[in-house]
Amino acid sequence: AGVLYVVATPIGNLGDITDRARKLLSEVDLIAAEDTRETLKLLRHLGIAAKLVAYHEHNEETMSARLASDLEGGAKIALVSDAGTPLISDPGYRLVSAARARGLTVVPVPGVSALTCALSASGLPSDRFLFLGFPPRGASQRRALLESVADEPGTLVFYESGKRVMATLADVRDTLGADRRSVIARELTKRFEIFLTGHPGELIAQLEADAAQRLGELVLLVEGRQACSGSEDRVELERVLRVLCDAL
Ligand code: SAM
Repeated sequence: AGVLYVVATPIGNLGDITDRARKLLSEVDLIAAEDTRETLKLLRHLGIAAKLVAYHEHNEETMSARLASDLEGGAKIALVSDAGTPLISDPGYRLVSAARARGLTVVPVPGVSALTCALSASGLPSDRFLFLGFPPRGASQRRALLESVADEPGTLVFYESGKRVMATLADVRDTLGADRRSVIARELTKRFEIFLTGHPGELIAQLEADAAQRLGELVLLVEGRQACSGSEDRVELERVLRVLCDAL
């Protein structure tokens, strides 16, 4: 049987493609790409002439079945998205799960993801984190999501667009508190890469003052619920329990 390679590609800096990814992309029978035009640019840069097929959120179901049959027939297929690691807020889950369900071999070919890239250089705790992908666009759903993770001690990581980040930061301030350290990681691996840091209100002010910072793609990271406030709660709970026990 064939092999499905899940291949990470750069998120801006083309130098971030790995030797292994480059070699595999030139060797496989087929490359399933989220947007064939985007992947063609990369392949041209790498000097690779490859057979491309479109695999995106609108044809995932039919293409997954087709590609899984090709794999069963012995094809070697690489799955790529426009940028970064497939399946991380990108298509691919259906294909990988269909391949696994049929007992086929799925091989990760790791590389960049905006998620790990941002977290690794943000300065926020990285030992524990919760990746939430793109927050809902509707304000009430977004607030509900934030409220559901208000007690999470790990760093919260979101993908967001420059257009919506101010509204999301305002919701972070209003639902999680005004004092959560936050980071915006923009234009990662690119020429104008920048990390903006501050409390949500400070970040909003920075974005208001400089419209250029509201352009492009970014990762928003928000400190988790601080350990100290958690232990303060525990101390308070124990005190109340002692009072109640004494009263009984
Ligand atoms: N699969 C990709 C990955 O592994 O990072 C993510 C794909 S998702 C559709 C696109 C989002 O990733 C953007 O809206 C942004 O939040 C983030 N992103 C991608 N490239 C980025 C970059 N160069 N700088 C900052 N954020 C980026």
